[in-house]
Amino acid sequence: MSHPVPCHEAIIIGGGFYGSAIAIHLARQRGFKRIVLLEREGGLLRRASYNNQARVHNGYHYPRSFTTAYRSRVNLPRFVADWPQAVKRDFTKLYAIARHNSKVTARQFERFCRDIGAQIQRADSAAHALFEPRLIEEVFQVQEYAFDATQLARWAVQELEECGVQVRLLTRATEIYQGAEHTLQVVTESEGGPQRLSCRYLFNCTYSGSNHFNGDFPGLDTDLRHEITEMALMQMPPALEGLGVTVMDGPFFSMMPFPSRDLHTLSHVRFTPHVQWNDDKSINPYDKLARHERTSRVERMVRDVGRYIPAILDSRHRDSLYEVKTVLAKNDRNDGRPILFEKHASLPGCYSVLGGKIDNIYDVLEKLDNEVF
Ligand SMILES: Cc1cc2nc3c(=O)[nH]c(=O)nc-3n(C[C@H](O)[C@H](O)[C@H](O)COP(=O)(O)OP(=O)(O)OC[C@H]3O[C@@H](n4cnc5c(N)ncnc54)[C@H](O)[C@@H]3O)c2cc1C
Repeated sequence: MSHPVPCHEAIIIGGGFYGSAIAIHLARQRGFKRIVLLEREGGLLRRASYNNQARVHNGYHYPRSFTTAYRSRVNLPRFVADWPQAVKRDFTKLYAIARHNSKVTARQFERFCRDIGAQIQRADSAAHALFEPRLIEEVFQVQEYAFDATQLARWAVQELEECGVQVRLLTRATEIYQGAEHTLQVVTESEGGPQRLSCRYLFNCTYSGSNHFNGDFPGLDTDLRHEITEMALMQMPPALEGLGVTVMDGPFFSMMPFPSRDLHTLSHVRFTPHVQWNDDKSINPYDKLARHERTSRVERMVRDVGRYIPAILDSRHRDSLYEVKTVLAKNDRNDGRPILFEKHASLPGCYSVLGGKIDNIYDVLEKLDNEVF
């Protein structure tokens, strides 16, 4: 292994949306000077930050978690103002309420939206005509947007360069140690072989990889749960092209524009998760996904969705995105998506961060702003 290189002020592990935004925030707002960002992929925002449903949440999705819904309401306008180039708004978003097996009725959903201050109105008759009335109780038009992850990646690359953050791609952090004199050490693996870097502050922004370090890293206090997900990428028929649709609240489905491919994602509560497991140090989520047999379940998704929206039967499957989705185990029941923000007492200066969804970035930055560095 080569000799330790001089101390960095901060090392960020993980070049997804969170790691990138945190590095930029520390440089711009907190005056950090020597920051290095480590990313195991060959580019930024290639993992969960790309392979997702691209919904800029506005609360509607979370009738069982008021806090998550409310935080989304607060964060959406900020996200739209900060990343206008990445936000797609020119489509109609419908939320439909299923008549059977739904955990929420139309009246409850409407009341919940009013409680969180989210715009909602009964959809027009053309929108209602898309749905099978024996299965759908009501259809609402709401205000919800989609984001373009390639635009966010472009923003990250440019800002990181302007801030002077050193980005090391194809570099995997494998071990974390307590060093001398309030330093932390990170061992990395890359084409050039192993290297040991040192820093004062360390930010673990590795999402599904959050617990997978050797050395002194104590692991998270919070239990995580992972699932291998399939989001089908569909070419929608003309009747559904300018629409996003979510059916609430149970074993149903969502279709959303996916701006970076000019297609729609289709997800289904029953078929999108292929495998689920509790976080376990002996199972590396990235390796598990790499070994996963990618047999698409899109036919089953379309067949079931077709009972509710017959027009989907004319859609075409173009591709599927497979990714590991990681959530806090405690939110399994209420579907809430709070952030994880842990300071590791045994490794002073080391933080782990996990954002349940993209707009939670503001909750993380607020926490960072309360830290004395
Ligand atoms: C199927 C699915 C659907 C979703 N839908 C939505 C949605 O519609 N709206 C929404 O807001 N959110 C959604 N989410 C959640 C959202 O994608 C995540 O909250 C967000 O992308 C997390 O960003 P991140 O930067 O923490 O993770 P990532 O983008 O995964 O970034 C972590 C990075 O760390 C790197 N890394 C990991 N380990 C190491 C290591 N040891 N060394 C170096 N690099 C490492 C990875 O390669 C990766 O690039 C969805 C997620 C999934 C999976």
